Amino acid sequence: MTTITNNNVIGAWDAEHALPFEVPTLEAVGLPAGGLPSGGLPSAPTDAAGGLPSAPTGAAGGWPLSQLRAEFPILSERVEGGKPLVWLDNAATTQKPRAVIERLQEYYEHENSNVHRGAHTLAARATDAYEEARGKVAAFIGAPSADNIVFVRGTTEGINLVAQSFVKPLLSPGDEIVLTILEHHANIVPWQVLTQETGAVLRVAPVDDTGQILVDEYRRLFSPRTKFASFTQVSNALGTVVPVEELIAIAHAFGVPTLVDGAQSIPHTPVNVTALDADFFVFSGHKLYAPTGIGAVYGKREHLEAAVPYQTGGNMIKDVTFERTVYQDPPQKFEAGTGNIADAVGLGAAIDFLEQIGIAHIAAWEQELLRYGTAELTKVPGLHLVGTAHHKASVLSFVLDGHSVEEIGQALSREGIAVRAGHHCAQPILRRFGLEGTVRPSLAFYNTPEEIEQLAQVLHRLAG
Ligand code: PLP
Repeated sequence: MTTITNNNVIGAWDAEHALPFEVPTLEAVGLPAGGLPSGGLPSAPTDAAGGLPSAPTGAAGGWPLSQLRAEFPILSERVEGGKPLVWLDNAATTQKPRAVIERLQEYYEHENSNVHRGAHTLAARATDAYEEARGKVAAFIGAPSADNIVFVRGTTEGINLVAQSFVKPLLSPGDEIVLTILEHHANIVPWQVLTQETGAVLRVAPVDDTGQILVDEYRRLFSPRTKFASFTQVSNALGTVVPVEELIAIAHAFGVPTLVDGAQSIPHTPVNVTALDADFFVFSGHKLYAPTGIGAVYGKREHLEAAVPYQTGGNMIKDVTFERTVYQDPPQKFEAGTGNIADAVGLGAAIDFLEQIGIAHIAAWEQELLRYGTAELTKVPGLHLVGTAHHKASVLSFVLDGHSVEEIGQALSREGIAVRAGHHCAQPILRRFGLEGTVRPSLAFYNTPEEIEQLAQVLHRLAG
């Protein structure tokens, strides 16, 4: 067992939950002590996610990890003169399974057409595939209907859509928008632009030294001038899992609608927007094993009806004269122009693939990897973790004494290990910890304990 001390962190361990925790705690989930097996995903604590109906082995304990990895062709890639690729940059983007790649090929070979117009066979196929994907997104996040789902390019475009279409018309000079210091720039800059356009102001909730939101401080930011609140569910820089259900409930107690940035939560944890009572939830497909250039906005029906589209043109209209235009109902009202049809279909295929494994299985395995990674990294002399909240997902941000983060990123890259080194588009939260950058390995379910060991080995060498 390794006991982590405050020497290994910037900030502090979560005192309330008695961290430093003892690691590894593998026995607790029936795994052998001393290391994780690379043989397979553990069974989820409950089988609520649907189990493994079509796992190729039919193994009760889940898919063998090697078999899962084989579904991702790029994971067999060799880099840097023949070294196996170790992909630990999953918070930036995830790799794509064969099911997604093949679905795109099938779409372009057999279905490609524009949607919602043209009375011919391929238009019908493309429209069916596109709308089926919308239904899969709705079901995956627990939305009441496919009509709650607007396809967008990704989280960034989704937040801009909500800011411009829904929030801007609500604002007068002096009104307030609540954010948190954990936010990605994508959940800061669009709101800042709104304040410049409307005279509204931003109020920002702080975190404690572990990187968790100070909920009482967040509550104190609300006033009769508060018109909207927007926050991430998982921090991309620290990995903090934010108690968004509580933050939403507080906002609602003040009559304030909310947006949840799900870019980093949806790959790692089951999401149910109805149970959360989120007003808006946005995410990017490419962080969910789907293609780039596709994502979704979930919105409550009444909000989507009230919102005014900020992009207009073809596809989103019922009727146009030179005097006036009648818009379509949501969600088409927000999908001006030709959308990213093929990649929406690819997103549907990614969701099918993940549902076969079960997002609860994925979450359980990733938590074990995160614990193991935490244990291994904190054994490296002079390494300091940044972001030590009790509830974390995927991310192991750190700095190492005597080395710039760029230097570490390059040293890892020379060994075939891909991580992000820099500010991660989240400068305010890193500056909260007195830093301009960190090294950020980020985990996905296809990562292995051996990959974590390789990462730790290189870091030990650098530290030594
Ligand atoms: N929000 C968070 C928390 C993120 O991590 C990211 C991307 O890293 C974004 C928003 C922006 O996502 P995208 O670039 O896919 O629009």
